[in-house]
Amino acid sequence: MTTTRKLVVFTDLDGTLLHPDTYSFEPAIPALRLIKEKGIPLILSSSKTRAEMEFYRKKLDNHHPFISENGGALFVPKDSFSFPFPYDRETEEYFVLELGQSYAQIVEVFEIVKAETGMRMRGFSDMTDEELISLCGLSPEEVRFAKKREYDEPFVMEGGEEEVQLVKRKMGEKGMRYVWGGRFHHLTGKNDKGKAVRILKELYENQLFSIATVGIGDSLNDIPMLLVVDHPIFLKGEGTPLPEALSSIPNLTIVNGTGPQAWNDIMLRIIG
Ligand SMILES: [Mg+2]
Repeated sequence: MTTTRKLVVFTDLDGTLLHPDTYSFEPAIPALRLIKEKGIPLILSSSKTRAEMEFYRKKLDNHHPFISENGGALFVPKDSFSFPFPYDRETEEYFVLELGQSYAQIVEVFEIVKAETGMRMRGFSDMTDEELISLCGLSPEEVRFAKKREYDEPFVMEGGEEEVQLVKRKMGEKGMRYVWGGRFHHLTGKNDKGKAVRILKELYENQLFSIATVGIGDSLNDIPMLLVVDHPIFLKGEGTPLPEALSSIPNLTIVNGTGPQAWNDIMLRIIG
């Protein structure tokens, strides 16, 4: 890409930078290395929890801000920006901007929707560690991280599109949001990845003056993020139909293939 603007990359994890089944990012290492060499901020933006994302940040040696639980919160390491900005709470390491509703409220609404629709739905809060290990293919340690939820409830349910639409409508009536994340259905507050990306974009503009943003994802919960970046990229799984909502995204690049190999190839093309 020929630009004098500084790049900032926002990426989804599952099915995008990470393999959808093995969670490996190994094939993406060449592009990850180049991104690091060029000093490009790589912002992880996922439906995963803070604890899970810290696990991957450590593996990736990533020290940039990150977006957890579908935009439920934005964690900004304290040394990220050289100017003050508003935040909701702070930890030893981060300034935290909270965009979602508390997990307790979300689980409460989940239970109400379950009762009112009579639908057979099971959320992370209903599942044992063993179920989650077999359902997600995670290690016991990773399941412990995945259960540390703060703003989002992933769930499975029986039924088809009609049942999903009913549940979605009910959740909307309760002032919350339903989103498909590629592996699970999710119930969240009124947050999405796009709102969190927009806030970070402004912070980076303030810091770097002129930026160009890249966003890359593989699922419906990535669409709000793809809508607010300059260079949106959608990774399309084999045999999966293109979501209709993609047609609303200007300047979209669609790549055939998901996971770290596809991520690596398109990233090298963009930043190489
Ligand atoms: Mg994904």
